[in-house]
Amino acid sequence: APILVWLRRDLRLRDNPALSAAAATGRPVVVVFIRDPLFDALGAAHKWRFGLGLDHFAARLRQLGNRLILRSGSALDVLRDIIGETGATTIYWNRAYDPDGIARDTEVKASFASQDIDVESFSGNLLQEPWKTTTKTGGHFKVYSPFWRALSVQAIAAPLAPPAQLRLVGNVPRSEDLAQWDLGAEMRRGAAVVAQHLLLGEEAAQARLDQFLDTVLPEYGEGRDFPARALTSNLSEPLAYGEISARQIWHQTLLRYPHGEAEKFLKELAWRDFAWHLTFHDPHIQTGCWRREWDRFQWEDRADDPRLIAWQQGRTGVDLVDAGMRELYATGRMHNRVRMIVASYLTKHLRMHWRFGQQWFADTLVDWDAASNAMGWQWVAGCGPDAAPYFRVFNPDTQQQKFDGQNTYCRHWLGTNSGFEEAVPLSWKTSRPLNPIVSLPEGRAQALAALEAFKTAE
Ligand code: FAD
Repeated sequence: APILVWLRRDLRLRDNPALSAAAATGRPVVVVFIRDPLFDALGAAHKWRFGLGLDHFAARLRQLGNRLILRSGSALDVLRDIIGETGATTIYWNRAYDPDGIARDTEVKASFASQDIDVESFSGNLLQEPWKTTTKTGGHFKVYSPFWRALSVQAIAAPLAPPAQLRLVGNVPRSEDLAQWDLGAEMRRGAAVVAQHLLLGEEAAQARLDQFLDTVLPEYGEGRDFPARALTSNLSEPLAYGEISARQIWHQTLLRYPHGEAEKFLKELAWRDFAWHLTFHDPHIQTGCWRREWDRFQWEDRADDPRLIAWQQGRTGVDLVDAGMRELYATGRMHNRVRMIVASYLTKHLRMHWRFGQQWFADTLVDWDAASNAMGWQWVAGCGPDAAPYFRVFNPDTQQQKFDGQNTYCRHWLGTNSGFEEAVPLSWKTSRPLNPIVSLPEGRAQALAALEAFKTAE
Protein backbone atom coordinates (compact mmCIF):
# COMPACT_ATOMS: atom_id res chain seq x y z
CA ALA A 1 0.00 0.00 0.00
CA PRO A 2 1.20 3.54 -0.68
CA ILE A 3 2.67 5.89 1.93
CA LEU A 4 1.36 9.40 2.25
CA VAL A 5 3.93 12.14 2.94
CA TRP A 6 2.30 15.30 4.22
CA LEU A 7 4.58 18.13 3.20
CA ARG A 8 4.55 21.31 5.30
CA ARG A 9 7.55 23.59 5.80
CA ASP A 10 9.99 21.18 4.21
CA LEU A 11 10.11 21.90 0.50
CA ARG A 12 13.31 19.97 -0.16
CA LEU A 13 14.54 16.57 -1.26
CA ARG A 14 17.85 16.61 0.64
CA ASP A 15 17.70 15.99 4.36
CA ASN A 16 13.96 15.49 4.34
CA PRO A 17 13.52 12.67 6.89
CA ALA A 18 9.82 12.01 6.17
CA LEU A 19 10.40 11.80 2.44
CA SER A 20 13.55 9.68 2.78
CA ALA A 21 11.86 7.27 5.16
CA ALA A 22 8.96 6.89 2.75
CA ALA A 23 11.29 6.33 -0.20
CA ALA A 24 13.27 3.73 1.75
CA THR A 25 10.24 1.46 2.07
CA GLY A 26 10.16 1.02 -1.71
CA ARG A 27 6.40 1.56 -1.62
CA PRO A 28 4.65 4.16 -3.81
CA VAL A 29 4.69 7.60 -2.24
CA VAL A 30 1.90 10.17 -2.41
CA VAL A 31 3.22 13.64 -1.56
CA VAL A 32 0.50 16.04 -0.50
CA PHE A 33 0.44 19.69 0.53
CA ILE A 34 -2.70 20.93 2.27
CA ARG A 35 -3.98 24.46 2.13
CA ASP A 36 -5.59 24.37 5.55
CA PRO A 37 -6.95 27.25 7.67
CA LEU A 38 -3.54 27.75 9.31
CA PHE A 39 -2.01 28.27 5.89
CA ASP A 40 -4.73 30.71 4.88
CA ALA A 41 -3.95 32.80 7.97
CA LEU A 42 -0.33 33.46 6.86
CA GLY A 43 0.82 36.97 5.99
CA ALA A 44 0.65 38.29 2.43
CA ALA A 45 4.31 38.17 1.41
CA HIS A 46 4.93 34.89 3.14
CA LYS A 47 1.95 33.19 1.49
CA TRP A 48 2.91 34.50 -1.92
CA ARG A 49 6.48 33.28 -1.52
CA PHE A 50 5.21 29.94 -0.22
CA GLY A 51 3.33 29.53 -3.49
CA LEU A 52 6.52 30.09 -5.49
CA GLY A 53 8.27 27.55 -3.30
CA LEU A 54 5.52 24.99 -3.89
CA ASP A 55 5.67 25.52 -7.62
CA HIS A 56 9.42 25.02 -7.56
CA PHE A 57 9.22 21.92 -5.40
CA ALA A 58 6.51 20.42 -7.60
CA ALA A 59 8.95 20.61 -10.50
CA ARG A 60 11.63 18.86 -8.44
CA LEU A 61 9.21 16.04 -7.67
CA ARG A 62 8.29 15.70 -11.32
CA GLN A 63 11.97 15.26 -12.16
CA LEU A 64 11.94 12.30 -9.81
CA GLY A 65 8.88 10.91 -11.58
CA ASN A 66 6.50 11.81 -8.76
CA ARG A 67 3.80 14.51 -8.33
CA LEU A 68 2.90 17.08 -5.73
CA ILE A 69 -0.78 16.77 -4.85
CA LEU A 70 -2.37 20.03 -3.70
CA ARG A 71 -5.60 20.03 -1.74
CA SER A 72 -7.54 22.55 0.34
CA GLY A 73 -9.54 21.90 3.48
CA SER A 74 -8.98 20.77 7.02
CA ALA A 75 -5.92 18.54 7.27
CA LEU A 76 -7.92 15.70 8.74
CA ASP A 77 -10.56 15.73 6.00
CA VAL A 78 -8.01 15.95 3.21
CA LEU A 79 -5.86 13.15 4.60
CA ARG A 80 -8.95 10.97 5.05
CA ASP A 81 -10.01 11.61 1.46
CA ILE A 82 -6.62 10.77 0.04
CA ILE A 83 -6.40 7.62 2.10
CA GLY A 84 -9.79 6.66 0.71
CA GLU A 85 -8.69 7.38 -2.84
CA THR A 86 -5.30 5.65 -2.74
CA GLY A 87 -5.57 2.96 -0.11
CA ALA A 88 -2.56 4.43 1.76
CA THR A 89 -2.03 2.90 5.19
CA THR A 90 0.75 5.13 6.47
CA ILE A 91 1.29 8.89 6.89
CA TYR A 92 4.67 10.50 7.46
CA TRP A 93 5.49 14.14 8.16
CA ASN A 94 8.23 16.31 9.61
CA ARG A 95 7.18 17.92 12.89
CA ALA A 96 5.90 21.43 13.47
CA TYR A 97 6.56 23.19 16.78
CA ASP A 98 4.07 26.07 16.82
CA PRO A 99 1.11 25.67 19.15
CA ASP A 100 -1.53 25.65 16.40
CA GLY A 101 0.46 23.22 14.29
CA ILE A 102 0.98 20.92 17.27
CA ALA A 103 -2.73 21.00 18.12
CA ARG A 104 -3.65 20.16 14.51
CA ASP A 105 -1.09 17.35 14.25
CA THR A 106 -2.11 15.87 17.60
CA GLU A 107 -5.72 15.74 16.48
CA VAL A 108 -4.78 14.08 13.19
CA LYS A 109 -2.60 11.54 14.95
CA ALA A 110 -5.27 10.68 17.51
CA SER A 111 -7.93 10.34 14.88
CA PHE A 112 -5.96 7.90 12.72
CA ALA A 113 -4.67 5.89 15.67
CA SER A 114 -8.07 4.24 15.96
CA GLN A 115 -8.25 3.42 12.25
CA ASP A 116 -5.19 1.24 11.73
CA ILE A 117 -3.40 4.00 9.90
CA ASP A 118 0.23 4.33 10.93
CA VAL A 119 1.28 7.89 11.59
CA GLU A 120 4.91 8.74 12.10
CA SER A 121 6.44 12.15 12.57
CA PHE A 122 10.10 13.01 12.06
CA SER A 123 12.59 15.58 13.23
CA GLY A 124 13.56 17.69 10.25
CA ASN A 125 13.23 21.40 10.84
CA LEU A 126 15.60 22.23 13.67
CA LEU A 127 19.10 21.32 14.73
CA GLN A 128 17.66 19.49 17.68
CA GLU A 129 14.19 18.70 19.02
CA PRO A 130 13.16 21.41 21.51
CA TRP A 131 12.71 18.90 24.35
CA LYS A 132 16.13 17.32 23.91
CA THR A 133 18.08 20.34 25.12
CA THR A 134 17.47 20.56 28.86
CA THR A 135 18.93 22.20 31.92
CA LYS A 136 20.65 20.06 34.54
CA THR A 137 17.35 19.70 36.35
CA GLY A 138 15.50 18.70 33.17
CA GLY A 139 13.76 22.03 32.60
CA HIS A 140 13.90 24.28 29.55
CA PHE A 141 16.21 27.22 28.95
CA LYS A 142 15.22 30.86 29.26
CA VAL A 143 18.63 32.35 28.60
CA TYR A 144 20.55 31.88 25.38
CA SER A 145 24.16 31.29 26.51
CA PRO A 146 23.49 28.18 28.59
CA PHE A 147 21.13 26.96 25.86
CA TRP A 148 23.95 27.28 23.36
CA ARG A 149 26.39 25.47 25.63
CA ALA A 150 23.93 22.61 26.08
CA LEU A 151 23.03 22.44 22.39
CA SER A 152 26.49 22.73 20.93
CA VAL A 153 27.88 19.71 22.78
CA GLN A 154 25.15 17.43 21.46
CA ALA A 155 25.53 15.35 18.34
CA ILE A 156 23.49 17.13 15.67
CA ALA A 157 22.05 14.53 13.28
CA ALA A 158 23.88 14.33 9.95
CA PRO A 159 21.82 15.44 6.94
CA LEU A 160 20.31 12.76 4.72
CA ALA A 161 20.99 12.33 1.01
CA PRO A 162 18.05 13.02 -1.32
CA PRO A 163 16.00 9.95 -2.17
CA ALA A 164 17.16 8.36 -5.42
CA GLN A 165 13.60 7.64 -6.41
CA LEU A 166 10.06 8.17 -5.18
CA ARG A 167 7.70 5.64 -6.75
CA LEU A 168 4.54 7.13 -8.12
CA VAL A 169 1.27 5.57 -7.09
CA GLY A 170 -0.78 3.87 -9.84
CA ASN A 171 -3.93 5.94 -9.39
CA VAL A 172 -2.55 9.44 -8.86
CA PRO A 173 -5.06 11.44 -6.82
CA ARG A 174 -6.36 14.62 -8.36
CA SER A 175 -4.53 17.82 -7.47
CA GLU A 176 -5.89 21.33 -7.27
CA ASP A 177 -4.28 23.92 -9.50
CA LEU A 178 -1.72 26.13 -7.73
CA ALA A 179 -2.50 29.07 -10.01
CA GLN A 180 -6.12 28.90 -8.89
CA TRP A 181 -5.06 29.21 -5.27
CA ASP A 182 -3.92 32.70 -6.21
CA LEU A 183 -1.54 32.89 -3.28
CA GLY A 184 -0.29 36.30 -4.39
CA ALA A 185 -3.74 37.87 -4.16
CA GLU A 186 -2.81 40.06 -1.20
CA MET A 187 0.61 41.08 -2.56
CA ARG A 188 -0.79 43.81 -4.81
CA ARG A 189 1.81 45.57 -6.88
CA GLY A 190 4.81 44.83 -4.68
CA ALA A 191 5.34 41.32 -5.97
CA ALA A 192 7.40 42.04 -9.08
CA VAL A 193 9.84 44.17 -7.10
CA VAL A 194 10.17 41.73 -4.21
CA ALA A 195 10.62 38.88 -6.70
CA GLN A 196 13.92 40.38 -7.84
CA HIS A 197 15.37 39.76 -4.38
CA LEU A 198 14.27 36.19 -3.76
CA LEU A 199 16.44 33.19 -3.11
CA LEU A 200 14.05 30.58 -4.37
CA GLY A 201 14.29 26.81 -4.09
CA GLU A 202 16.57 24.11 -2.80
CA GLU A 203 19.29 24.46 -5.44
CA ALA A 204 19.59 28.23 -4.96
CA ALA A 205 19.78 27.83 -1.19
CA GLN A 206 22.51 25.22 -1.54
CA ALA A 207 24.46 27.38 -4.00
CA ARG A 208 24.15 30.36 -1.66
CA LEU A 209 25.41 28.30 1.28
CA ASP A 210 28.42 27.13 -0.75
CA GLN A 211 29.19 30.66 -1.87
CA PHE A 212 28.71 32.09 1.61
CA LEU A 213 31.08 29.54 3.11
CA ASP A 214 33.65 30.05 0.33
CA THR A 215 33.77 33.80 0.23
CA VAL A 216 31.79 35.54 2.98
CA LEU A 217 32.08 33.59 6.21
CA PRO A 218 35.62 34.69 7.13
CA GLU A 219 34.30 38.26 7.35
CA TYR A 220 31.00 37.39 9.01
CA GLY A 221 32.05 37.83 12.62
CA GLU A 222 33.31 41.33 12.10
CA GLY A 223 31.00 42.44 9.29
CA ARG A 224 27.57 41.00 10.06
CA ASP A 225 26.32 44.16 11.75
CA PHE A 226 26.81 46.50 8.80
CA PRO A 227 23.67 46.58 6.67
CA ALA A 228 25.38 47.93 3.55
CA ARG A 229 28.03 45.24 3.49
CA ALA A 230 25.86 42.18 2.78
CA LEU A 231 28.03 39.85 4.85
CA THR A 232 25.29 37.63 6.23
CA SER A 233 24.09 34.38 4.72
CA ASN A 234 20.54 35.36 3.63
CA LEU A 235 19.55 31.80 4.41
CA SER A 236 16.62 32.77 6.64
CA GLU A 237 14.36 32.85 3.59
CA PRO A 238 14.95 29.27 2.38
CA LEU A 239 15.01 28.12 6.02
CA ALA A 240 11.51 29.53 6.47
CA TYR A 241 10.12 27.14 3.84
CA GLY A 242 12.46 24.27 4.61
CA GLU A 243 14.23 24.60 1.26
CA ILE A 244 17.41 23.99 3.21
CA SER A 245 17.69 22.42 6.65
CA ALA A 246 19.47 23.91 9.64
CA ARG A 247 21.37 20.64 9.95
CA GLN A 248 22.72 20.93 6.42
CA ILE A 249 23.99 24.42 7.24
CA TRP A 250 25.47 23.25 10.53
CA HIS A 251 27.34 20.27 9.13
CA GLN A 252 28.54 21.88 5.95
CA THR A 253 29.86 24.82 7.92
CA LEU A 254 31.75 22.56 10.32
CA LEU A 255 33.14 20.48 7.50
CA ARG A 256 34.58 23.59 5.96
CA TYR A 257 35.62 25.30 9.20
CA PRO A 258 36.33 22.55 11.72
CA HIS A 259 38.39 24.54 14.21
CA GLY A 260 35.89 26.97 15.66
CA GLU A 261 36.41 29.62 12.94
CA ALA A 262 32.68 29.65 12.23
CA GLU A 263 31.42 29.72 15.79
CA LYS A 264 29.90 33.18 15.51
CA PHE A 265 27.80 32.04 12.56
CA LEU A 266 26.74 28.75 14.14
CA LYS A 267 25.76 30.65 17.27
CA GLU A 268 23.42 32.82 15.20
CA LEU A 269 21.98 29.77 13.51
CA ALA A 270 21.30 28.31 16.95
CA TRP A 271 19.24 31.41 17.88
CA ARG A 272 16.61 30.03 15.54
CA ASP A 273 16.55 26.79 17.52
CA PHE A 274 16.42 28.81 20.75
CA ALA A 275 13.41 30.71 19.43
CA TRP A 276 11.59 27.43 18.75
CA HIS A 277 12.70 26.03 22.08
CA LEU A 278 11.00 29.03 23.73
CA THR A 279 7.81 28.83 21.65
CA PHE A 280 7.55 25.08 22.19
CA HIS A 281 7.93 25.28 25.97
CA ASP A 282 5.96 28.49 26.50
CA PRO A 283 3.65 29.21 23.53
CA HIS A 284 2.34 32.32 25.27
CA ILE A 285 5.33 34.10 23.71
CA GLN A 286 3.47 34.02 20.39
CA THR A 287 0.57 36.16 21.55
CA GLY A 288 1.44 37.87 24.83
CA CYS A 289 4.38 39.20 26.79
CA TRP A 290 6.71 36.41 27.83
CA ARG A 291 7.29 38.36 31.06
CA ARG A 292 3.62 38.36 31.92
CA GLU A 293 3.67 41.59 33.93
CA TRP A 294 4.41 43.55 30.75
CA ASP A 295 0.93 42.72 29.45
CA ARG A 296 -0.20 45.41 31.90
CA PHE A 297 2.06 48.12 30.45
CA GLN A 298 0.14 50.95 28.76
CA TRP A 299 1.23 50.28 25.18
CA GLU A 300 -0.31 52.49 22.55
CA ASP A 301 -2.77 50.14 20.96
CA ARG A 302 -4.70 51.78 18.13
CA ALA A 303 -4.20 50.06 14.80
CA ASP A 304 -5.10 53.30 12.97
CA ASP A 305 -2.59 55.41 14.94
CA PRO A 306 -1.01 57.68 12.28
CA ARG A 307 2.40 57.15 13.86
CA LEU A 308 2.09 53.40 13.34
CA ILE A 309 1.12 53.96 9.73
CA ALA A 310 4.05 56.33 9.22
CA TRP A 311 6.36 53.66 10.62
CA GLN A 312 4.91 50.95 8.36
CA GLN A 313 5.28 53.15 5.30
CA GLY A 314 8.79 54.40 6.07
CA ARG A 315 7.77 58.00 6.85
CA THR A 316 8.90 58.55 10.44
CA GLY A 317 11.49 61.11 9.38
CA VAL A 318 14.25 59.08 11.09
CA ASP A 319 16.64 58.02 8.33
CA LEU A 320 17.72 54.58 9.45
CA VAL A 321 14.20 53.61 10.55
CA ASP A 322 12.67 54.67 7.24
CA ALA A 323 15.46 53.05 5.24
CA GLY A 324 14.83 49.75 7.04
CA MET A 325 11.06 49.90 6.57
CA ARG A 326 11.57 50.60 2.89
CA GLU A 327 14.01 47.74 2.51
CA LEU A 328 11.40 45.51 4.15
CA TYR A 329 8.59 46.52 1.82
CA ALA A 330 10.64 46.34 -1.35
CA THR A 331 12.57 43.12 -0.67
CA GLY A 332 10.65 41.19 1.97
CA ARG A 333 13.78 41.23 4.12
CA MET A 334 15.59 43.54 6.48
CA HIS A 335 19.08 43.41 7.88
CA ASN A 336 19.14 42.14 11.47
CA ARG A 337 20.75 45.25 12.93
CA VAL A 338 18.09 47.41 11.30
CA ARG A 339 15.28 45.11 12.48
CA MET A 340 16.40 45.85 16.03
CA ILE A 341 16.44 49.58 15.40
CA VAL A 342 13.04 49.87 13.73
CA ALA A 343 11.59 47.65 16.45
CA SER A 344 13.08 49.81 19.16
CA TYR A 345 11.74 52.99 17.58
CA LEU A 346 8.23 51.52 17.35
CA THR A 347 8.10 50.07 20.85
CA LYS A 348 10.13 52.69 22.73
CA HIS A 349 10.00 56.05 20.97
CA LEU A 350 6.42 55.51 19.80
CA ARG A 351 5.48 53.13 22.65
CA MET A 352 3.29 51.14 20.25
CA HIS A 353 2.53 47.59 21.26
CA TRP A 354 5.18 45.23 19.87
CA ARG A 355 2.35 43.08 18.51
CA PHE A 356 1.77 45.62 15.73
CA GLY A 357 5.37 45.22 14.70
CA GLN A 358 5.15 41.45 14.93
CA GLN A 359 2.06 41.52 12.69
CA TRP A 360 3.54 43.91 10.16
CA PHE A 361 6.63 41.76 9.85
CA ALA A 362 4.44 38.64 9.51
CA ASP A 363 2.66 40.32 6.63
CA THR A 364 5.70 41.66 4.80
CA LEU A 365 8.70 39.42 5.50
CA VAL A 366 9.49 36.61 3.09
CA ASP A 367 11.67 35.05 5.78
CA TRP A 368 8.93 35.22 8.41
CA ASP A 369 9.44 32.66 11.13
CA ALA A 370 6.82 32.63 13.89
CA ALA A 371 9.30 31.86 16.67
CA SER A 372 12.17 34.16 15.64
CA ASN A 373 9.76 37.00 14.98
CA ALA A 374 8.01 36.79 18.35
CA MET A 375 11.32 36.43 20.16
CA GLY A 376 12.94 39.27 18.22
CA TRP A 377 10.11 41.70 18.98
CA GLN A 378 9.97 40.85 22.63
CA TRP A 379 13.73 40.98 22.94
CA VAL A 380 13.71 44.55 21.72
CA ALA A 381 10.58 45.58 23.62
CA GLY A 382 12.18 44.28 26.82
CA CYS A 383 9.41 41.83 27.73
CA GLY A 384 10.97 38.66 26.32
CA PRO A 385 13.37 36.06 27.62
CA ASP A 386 17.01 37.06 27.74
CA ALA A 387 15.81 40.44 26.51
CA ALA A 388 17.57 43.74 26.22
CA PRO A 389 16.91 45.55 29.51
CA TYR A 390 13.73 47.62 29.30
CA PHE A 391 15.68 50.84 29.70
CA ARG A 392 17.80 50.22 26.62
CA VAL A 393 16.51 52.50 23.88
CA PHE A 394 18.47 52.33 20.65
CA ASN A 395 19.36 55.74 19.28
CA PRO A 396 18.88 55.33 15.51
CA ASP A 397 21.21 58.24 14.70
CA THR A 398 24.07 56.90 16.79
CA GLN A 399 23.45 53.44 15.34
CA GLN A 400 23.59 54.91 11.88
CA GLN A 401 26.93 56.59 12.56
CA LYS A 402 28.28 53.33 13.91
CA PHE A 403 26.92 50.84 11.38
CA ASP A 404 26.23 52.95 8.29
CA GLY A 405 28.92 55.56 8.73
CA GLN A 406 29.25 56.17 4.99
CA ASN A 407 25.46 56.49 4.72
CA THR A 408 25.47 53.89 1.94
CA TYR A 409 22.50 51.92 3.21
CA CYS A 410 20.36 54.95 4.02
CA ARG A 411 21.23 56.73 0.78
CA HIS A 412 20.18 53.70 -1.22
CA TRP A 413 16.84 53.11 0.52
CA LEU A 414 15.90 56.76 0.90
CA GLY A 415 16.81 57.53 -2.70
CA THR A 416 14.54 57.16 -5.69
CA ASN A 417 16.24 54.19 -7.38
CA SER A 418 15.67 51.54 -4.76
CA GLY A 419 12.48 50.07 -6.21
CA PHE A 420 10.50 51.06 -3.12
CA GLU A 421 8.23 53.49 -4.92
CA GLU A 422 7.30 50.84 -7.51
CA ALA A 423 6.60 48.32 -4.74
CA VAL A 424 4.13 50.25 -2.63
CA PRO A 425 0.36 50.56 -3.04
CA LEU A 426 -0.71 53.62 -4.98
CA SER A 427 -2.55 54.91 -1.93
CA TRP A 428 0.68 55.35 0.04
CA LYS A 429 2.38 58.69 0.37
CA THR A 430 6.09 58.28 -0.15
CA SER A 431 7.37 61.70 0.83
CA ARG A 432 9.00 61.85 4.25
CA PRO A 433 8.52 64.59 6.84
CA LEU A 434 11.39 67.01 7.28
CA ASN A 435 11.48 66.38 11.00
CA PRO A 436 10.92 63.10 12.84
CA ILE A 437 7.28 62.50 13.80
CA VAL A 438 8.62 61.91 17.31
CA SER A 439 12.01 63.40 17.95
CA LEU A 440 14.69 61.10 19.27
CA PRO A 441 15.38 62.89 22.58
CA GLU A 442 11.70 63.44 23.29
CA GLY A 443 10.67 59.88 22.42
CA ARG A 444 13.48 58.50 24.50
CA ALA A 445 12.64 60.64 27.53
CA GLN A 446 8.95 59.76 27.34
CA ALA A 447 9.71 56.07 26.92
CA LEU A 448 12.03 56.03 29.89
CA ALA A 449 9.55 57.93 32.06
CA ALA A 450 6.73 55.52 31.19
CA LEU A 451 8.93 52.48 31.66
CA GLU A 452 10.31 53.68 34.99
CA ALA A 453 6.82 54.52 36.26
CA PHE A 454 5.64 51.07 35.26
CA LYS A 455 8.59 49.34 36.90
CA THR A 456 8.10 51.32 40.11
CA ALA A 457 4.39 50.52 40.21
CA GLU A 458 5.09 46.82 39.69
P1 FAD B 1 22.64 35.27 9.28
O1 FAD B 1 23.29 36.31 10.09
O2 FAD B 1 23.37 34.75 8.11
O3 FAD B 1 22.31 34.09 10.29
C1 FAD B 1 22.13 32.73 9.86
C2 FAD B 1 20.81 32.19 10.35
O4 FAD B 1 20.77 32.23 11.78
C3 FAD B 1 19.62 33.03 9.91
O5 FAD B 1 19.21 32.69 8.61
C4 FAD B 1 18.59 32.66 10.97
O6 FAD B 1 17.98 31.44 10.68
C5 FAD B 1 19.44 32.49 12.22
N1 FAD B 1 19.42 33.73 13.00
C6 FAD B 1 20.32 34.75 12.95
N2 FAD B 1 20.00 35.69 13.85
C7 FAD B 1 18.87 35.28 14.46
C8 FAD B 1 18.04 35.83 15.49
N3 FAD B 1 18.31 37.01 16.08
N4 FAD B 1 16.94 35.14 15.86
C9 FAD B 1 16.64 33.94 15.30
N5 FAD B 1 17.40 33.38 14.33
C10 FAD B 1 18.49 34.04 13.92
N6 FAD B 1 14.45 35.91 11.63
C11 FAD B 1 13.69 35.13 10.85
O7 FAD B 1 14.19 34.16 10.27
N7 FAD B 1 12.35 35.37 10.69
C12 FAD B 1 11.73 36.42 11.31
O8 FAD B 1 10.51 36.59 11.17
C13 FAD B 1 12.52 37.28 12.12
N8 FAD B 1 11.97 38.35 12.73
C14 FAD B 1 12.76 39.18 13.49
C15 FAD B 1 12.17 40.29 14.11
C16 FAD B 1 12.94 41.16 14.89
C17 FAD B 1 12.29 42.35 15.56
C18 FAD B 1 14.32 40.91 15.03
C19 FAD B 1 15.17 41.85 15.83
C20 FAD B 1 14.90 39.81 14.42
C21 FAD B 1 14.14 38.93 13.66
N9 FAD B 1 14.71 37.80 13.02
C22 FAD B 1 13.92 36.99 12.25
C23 FAD B 1 16.12 37.42 13.24
C24 FAD B 1 17.15 37.95 12.21
O9 FAD B 1 16.97 39.30 11.97
C25 FAD B 1 17.14 37.18 10.90
O10 FAD B 1 17.15 35.79 11.13
C26 FAD B 1 18.35 37.54 10.02
O11 FAD B 1 18.35 38.90 9.73
C27 FAD B 1 18.31 36.72 8.76
O12 FAD B 1 19.36 37.10 7.88
P2 FAD B 1 20.48 36.05 7.48
O13 FAD B 1 19.86 34.77 7.06
O14 FAD B 1 21.37 36.72 6.51
O15 FAD B 1 21.19 35.82 8.89
